[in-house]
This record gives sequence, structure tokens and C-alpha cells, in this order.
Amino acid sequence: MKHYDYLIVGAGIFGATFAHRMTQDGRSCLVIDRRPHIGGNTYCENIEGINVHKYGAHIFHTSDKQIWDFVNSLVPFNRYTNSPVANYHGELYNLPFNMNTFNRMWGVITPQQALDIIEQQRNEARLAMQNEGRTEPANLEEQALLLVGRDIYEKLIKGYTEKQWGRPCTQLPAFIIKRLPVRLVFDNNYFNDLYQGIPIGGYNRLIERLLEGSDVMLNTDFLTNRESLTRQADKILYTGAIDAFYDFCYGKLEYRTVRFEQSTLDIPNYQGNAVINYTDAQTPYTRIIEHKHFEMFGPDVDKCPHTVISKEYSTEWTEGMEPYYPINDQRNTNLYQQYQQLARQETKVLFGGRLAEYKYYDMAPTIKNSLILADSQIH
Ligand SMILES: Cc1cc2nc3c(=O)[nH]c(=O)nc-3n(C[C@H](O)[C@H](O)[C@H](O)COP(=O)(O)OP(=O)(O)OC[C@H]3O[C@@H](n4cnc5c(N)ncnc54)[C@H](O)[C@@H]3O)c2cc1C
Repeated sequence: MKHYDYLIVGAGIFGATFAHRMTQDGRSCLVIDRRPHIGGNTYCENIEGINVHKYGAHIFHTSDKQIWDFVNSLVPFNRYTNSPVANYHGELYNLPFNMNTFNRMWGVITPQQALDIIEQQRNEARLAMQNEGRTEPANLEEQALLLVGRDIYEKLIKGYTEKQWGRPCTQLPAFIIKRLPVRLVFDNNYFNDLYQGIPIGGYNRLIERLLEGSDVMLNTDFLTNRESLTRQADKILYTGAIDAFYDFCYGKLEYRTVRFEQSTLDIPNYQGNAVINYTDAQTPYTRIIEHKHFEMFGPDVDKCPHTVISKEYSTEWTEGMEPYYPINDQRNTNLYQQYQQLARQETKVLFGGRLAEYKYYDMAPTIKNSLILADSQIH
């Protein structure tokens, strides 16, 4: 049986980046994943020539030039710019909140006109709170009203947020929303980052490039083959769930998750945009993703006669579902810290990535952290 310098548990972007750096440095790596494919949550399935983001829409964005140059050195990125649209009972609004949104909402033409309305509505919220003898918002609803006023809150925030969290905004803590940026320019680009896009040919190509030079074994669960796999390498990088690694000895970490309802349609264009948010309370899903718009632009949209859409339902996580978003409340933070204590005592095992660190990371910081961990092993 071949012996490796590193056994890497998880062929997601953290594990694959680590493997890339290590193989470049001449170390041998075996990368395993319990799923039948590489890529972790960035994995795309090709349906009718369309790359379908199986675990949720992934848009790469960063202001870190080093990371941008690094990923582009492996595979070029396209010009996709995230500019979601909100559908509120059939009224369409551009996101993030900007002059296009305000023109649609109030018919205003100038930034000053928009600002006057927002300021007036923010003042009304402040006065209502003061009349109750309070200076701090008691819940998310009050916080949002103070930040953007009633119209934007009711049409674009309330229903969407309640569906996301499964609770009324009046029962959600104010700190969940710290800022709600309002742009007084006609700019629908969602991200403020310097760089964004999708790898040309899809995320699988990026991960394949990262895994060049490594041996890969799929459908292999580390936890059920722990002893034999551990013997195969000098060191282990584990990117799976940290509580599972320790057999849930302190209890289970909790998550929120998303359920996807996917359909293939025999029309070239369903909604004209990659992302449409449904911000009313009645529509049961939060968003519809139309995958082809991540990679097909202009006339290419119609050249492909089919389209694939995914309706996203925000859901409470239970055993057997994909764990997507960590719940960073007191209980889970304490629990994670207990597991972290155990992890610090390991001499042969490194931990990294969103599941092992119980933290939501975008892809760019995931790559950065993985490179930092790899470099700490090399130097
Ligand atoms: C719905 C959603 C949308 C997102 N959208 C964006 C976005 O638009 N832009 C962005 O930058 N980021 C986005 N992200 C974040 C992005 O998915 C993460 O940054 C990235 O997936 C983290 O990579 P990872 O390798 O740490 O984890 P993962 O991708 O989860 O990879 C971990 C891998 O480990 C494997 N594994 C776990 N346990 C075991 C085991 N016991 N044995 C073997 N294998 C195991 C898993 O099967 C998995 O393949 C999104 C995340 C979610 C949930």
C-alpha cells in the first residue's frame, strides 16, 4: 500500500488548495471524499450543457489580488457580475438598494430625493422608539427600520429575512443586521470587491487543476475507515465536521440549511437573471437561481434551448441534511470551543475549512487560509 506525506480528508476548496500547495512542494498527497465527486460545495453537475451549482449558487469574489491571480493562473474567470433582482408580489427591484431600486419604489430621480425619503422614514422609526422610552432597537425589525425606513424594510427585507430564519423579525435579535448599505448611485453590482466571476468551464475545472498531482479516492468516509487511512500517511488534514471527528462526545453542533428544488425546462430563458429573490412572505422559497446565466451571456443564452432552475427553501437542519450555515449563538460557540481544545492537542492532524472550523467562509478566504496552513507546514 502506498504511503503518503499527507492524507487530506475532503476534496472541497480547502482540501484541494492544500493538496495543490503541498504537491507543488514535492509532497505526496492522498485526497479522499465521502461524496462521489470532487469540489465539496462548489461542485457543479453538467445538465444539458449548463453547469448546475448543486449545493447552492457560488460566485467568486475578492479584493485580494494575490488570491485572484492565484485562481486565474489555474483557470481563467468570466465576466459574471452578481446583480440580483428582488420580486415583491410581481414588483421587480434591483439589489443591492440603489438609485434603480428607489426610482422603482418612489419614482425619485435624484439621490437627494431618495435620501430625503429614507431620512424621513428613519426619523419616524427613531421617534416611535423614543416614544416608548428606548434608545436601542429591541429586535431586527426595529434595527432595519432605523437603518433604511419602512418602505424598504417591508418590501425587500421583512419577508425574505423571516423565511431565512423561520421566525418573525420581531423575534430576531437586532445584531443580525449591523449595516444595510444604501447606494445613491445607479449601480446594481452586488459586491464591492475589486474582482468577481465564475471559472470558465465551471468550478470543477478549478478543483481539477488544484488536485493535479494528488491521488484522489471518492466515496470514502474517513470516519468509518479511520484506522487504516490514518496508517497511510504521516500527517492528516481534516476538513470535515469537527464534532463528528470526536464522535460528538460533547454534543452536536447546529446548522441552518437550504433545500433545493431543481427543474430542467425546455425554454432558453426562464427569468433573465441568475438570481431572483422572492421578498414577500407568501412565496415559500427565498430565491430562484437560473444557472445558465452564470456562464452564458448575450446571444449564448438563446443558443442553448434548455434551462435549469433551482428554488431555494431555507430550512432547519436535521440529521442527514447538508450542514450549510453554522449557528454562531452562545451554545454552539461554547461547544465548538470545547472541540477546538481537543483539536489543539492533536500532533498528527491539522484541521481547516468551514466544517472543521465551524465558520462560514467565502471561497476566497477559504483558499487564503488553506495556503497559509500549507505554508506553515512547508517553512
Ligand atoms: C448555500 C451556499 C452558498 C455559498 N455561496 C458562496 C458564494 O457565492 N461565494 C463564495 O465565495 N462562497 C460561497 N459559499 C461558501 C463556500 O461554499 C465555502 O467557502 C467552501 O465550500 C468551503 O470549502 P471547504 O473545503 O471548507 O468545505 P466543503 O466545500 O464543504 O468541503 C468539505 C468536503 O469534505 C468532505 N467530508 C466531510 N466529512 C468527510 C469525511 N468524514 N470523510 C470524507 N470526506 C468528508 C465533504 O464531503 C466535502 O466535500 C456558499 C456556501 C453555501 C453553503
